[in-house]
This record gives sequence, structure tokens and C-alpha cells, in this order.
Amino acid sequence: MTDEKAILAAKRRMMEAIRNDIRDTAGWTGLDHFSDRVMQAMETVPRHAFIEGIEPFYAYANRPAPIGHSQTISQPYMVALMTELLDLKTSDRVLEIGTGCGYQTAILAEIAAQVFSIEVIADLAAAARDRLDRLGYDQKVHVRHGDGFDGWPDQAPFDAIIVTAAPREIPEQLVHQLRVGGRLVIPLGRPRDTQMLYRIIRLENGKFNETGILPVAFVPMLPQNNDT
Ligand code: SAH
Repeated sequence: MTDEKAILAAKRRMMEAIRNDIRDTAGWTGLDHFSDRVMQAMETVPRHAFIEGIEPFYAYANRPAPIGHSQTISQPYMVALMTELLDLKTSDRVLEIGTGCGYQTAILAEIAAQVFSIEVIADLAAAARDRLDRLGYDQKVHVRHGDGFDGWPDQAPFDAIIVTAAPREIPEQLVHQLRVGGRLVIPLGRPRDTQMLYRIIRLENGKFNETGILPVAFVPMLPQNNDT
């Protein structure tokens, strides 16, 4: 089989695995299918371009994978679920905390108008920026090396915020950068302990609607060190 054929077949299996996971978790999430927009983005983005050092078709396994610096690219189902929970419109401006390899960033850019992404590890931020530029996402995506706990105040407010590493508590700055009606999707909890994926919606008069969606396992959200 040529590489291209193997990739297509692996991608088809990935989409099937995502659909199976959606069914398996429907009791938790309340969702028995995801929107066409999200499924289309999962089909479109070349996941193998984001994971180096393995056979391209392995990149489509429905599993997380290492991306260096003790960090991981999330499992495809988890990327799809978090994107679904953001409920994105094509005009939305999105903030992502934890660029990693940039895969989730590309999925967001397939749907939303603008994506602002912050990565605390300088090497990962630079590599993701190059990769996303090469893949043609440069008009929509802005990657910055910095501490996600601060958010991106100059570009706030955002229609949606996604956090792809787990802090113990909701970072205060982030909820302030959400517009009224905006959605925040975030895993919360201690490393190696049970974490929970939450969706938080900003309501009028400073109130928030908070829903626990699913138990999850994410790398911890790190404070910025001087050497990162
Ligand atoms: N969305 C990524 C998943 C990356 S894993 C992908 O698709 O590849 C989580 C990422 O969050 C890691 O790259 C990690 O370095 C980053 N991170 C951890 N703490 C952070 C912080 N305080 N600010 C910004 N990024 C952070």
C-alpha cells in the first residue's frame, strides 16, 4: 500500500473509533453525535503532519502520543469532544491554552475565524508556529510563547476558550477574558488524580454556568519557569 492509501485507511479507522467513543460516552456527555462541522474538521486536518518520528498512519490511532518535552498530543476523540463542547461559529474568536504540536489549534482554525494560542514551552511554540504556517493556517492562527494563566488580554474578549492542560482550579484571568455567552472548556484536577472536563458558560451579571462532562487525564498546566 502506498503511504497515501495507508493514511486514508487509517483516517477512516480513526473516524470510526471517534464515532464509537461518542456512543460509549453518550451517557456522560449527553451527546449521541457530534456536529458535521467538528467531524469534517477531524477528517480534514492531516494529523500525521503534527507527530514526528512515527509512521504517518500510526498518527491516526485513537490515542494520545508523545510530542517531546514530556508533553502529549491529545487523543483524537478528546480533541473532537472539546471542540464540540466549544460550540463554535464560523465568526468566533478562540483562545487556546497549550498549543503543544498545534493539532487542536488547526482543528479550531478549520471552524472558527481566528485562533489565538499560547504555549509555555518556547521550543514547542516555535515548532507549532512553523508547522501551522507551512500547512497554510497562518492567516487565522496566532501562536505566542507565554504563560496561559495570564490569557491574552490584548485580544479579549473571546467567544470560546479551550485549555488543553489541567490546572487545579479555574484560572481567574481566563474567565474574565470570556465574553457574555462565551464557552470555556477545561480539564480541572491534580495530576495523576481524577480530573474532570468542565464546560463553563459566562452568563449575564458575572454569573457562570458550570457543567462537569467527563472524567479525563491531562498533563498538568505548568507555571512558567524562567527557562521555558
Ligand atoms: N493541544 C495540544 C495538547 C498539548 S498538551 C495538542 O494538540 O498537541 C498540553 C500543552 O499545554 C503542552 O504543550 C504544555 O507545554 C502546555 N502548557 C502547560 N502549561 C501551560 C501554561 N501555563 N501556559 C501555556 N501552555 C501550557
